[in-house]
Amino acid sequence: MGVYVYMNSFLISKYKDVEPYVPGEQPRDKKYIKLNTNESPYPPSEAVLKAVEDSGRSLQLYPDPACRDLRAALAGSLGLEPGNILPTNGSDEVLSLSFMAYAHDEKPAYYANVTYGFYDVLSGLFNVKAKHFALESDFTIDINRYCGLDRGLIVIANPNAPTGIAIGVDEIEKICKESPRCVVLIDEAYVEFGAESCVGLVKKYPNLIVSRTYSKSMSLAGARLGYAIANEERIRELETLKYALNPYSVNRTALAAGVAAVKDIEYYRNNCKLVAETRGRTTEKLKELGFELTDSKTNFVFCRHPGVPASELSEKLREAGILVRHFTGERTNDWLRISIGTPENMLALTDTLKEILNGGKS
Ligand SMILES: *Cc1c(COP(=O)(O)O)cnc(C)c1O
Repeated sequence: MGVYVYMNSFLISKYKDVEPYVPGEQPRDKKYIKLNTNESPYPPSEAVLKAVEDSGRSLQLYPDPACRDLRAALAGSLGLEPGNILPTNGSDEVLSLSFMAYAHDEKPAYYANVTYGFYDVLSGLFNVKAKHFALESDFTIDINRYCGLDRGLIVIANPNAPTGIAIGVDEIEKICKESPRCVVLIDEAYVEFGAESCVGLVKKYPNLIVSRTYSKSMSLAGARLGYAIANEERIRELETLKYALNPYSVNRTALAAGVAAVKDIEYYRNNCKLVAETRGRTTEKLKELGFELTDSKTNFVFCRHPGVPASELSEKLREAGILVRHFTGERTNDWLRISIGTPENMLALTDTLKEILNGGKS
């Protein structure tokens, strides 16, 4: 008879301290106006819906691991070669492959102290030394900090999240040029809502990787599709790791949707324009209610009210059926990140906030 030793954890020790990403909630208790995860308020185009339906007929087959059709479509739309593109399972996969490929303890990852929370998660997971550069008091980036760095991975979300603030292509070029031994990863998850893309620099700077996603501007958060854009050598490096980890990470339905969406780019551009217009009107209304806002170029606003704590606002909005995102943490605790929904959604938001601020009277 053997002796049973009860094990509390089977996890190997290097993963014991991993802190997972905490996604915005997707509740099921009732129907909310969801302004907490930066999804598009608009559905995919008709052509995408049709492609998704058609893809179902061949789901018994593996997807093309090389993603050739999607690469060709994206390369055509960006004026690049298919070898400059790597489709991935959401742009989060571009981020994880990049951390894996280009950062470690003697090659740090450099990023802002207020930015996308996933960067810290990946540093923890891959044992990467993270160097956090503090944003200025108004949440802008001092790009000089990223110049003259020796080795490692520079990661900048442009526009940044959750602040919404963008930097210019000339500034990104300066970083690529002045830190030539670092890989510079520019996360353009929100670029289509009003910032300037640095994709044009890819031909000139072999150390630049741009990550893009279909989750926000292309109404496909549920399909999990993103891509890296870079010099062919960088793409080959990332692709080698992708094939080592999960060659079929992009499924057949996502590939079909992705190709169809590229062909329908006018529909999506128009949606982004609508979102930017709604953001402008929402910003004005929030200012009238006494909120302070950053200059957002994204599909969300980042705001605080001098009179009421963000935690209280977020709780009261929730009770009224509206979800927004409140990040605890020293620099963000006073602030709310509110996704831009339809004009009707945003009217409901500002009306409800008005009531909350008036102590229940509208
Ligand atoms: C949403 C988001 C992503 C990742 O999106 P995917 O859904 O994985 O494509 C990446 N970076 C930032 C800054 C984001 O906000």
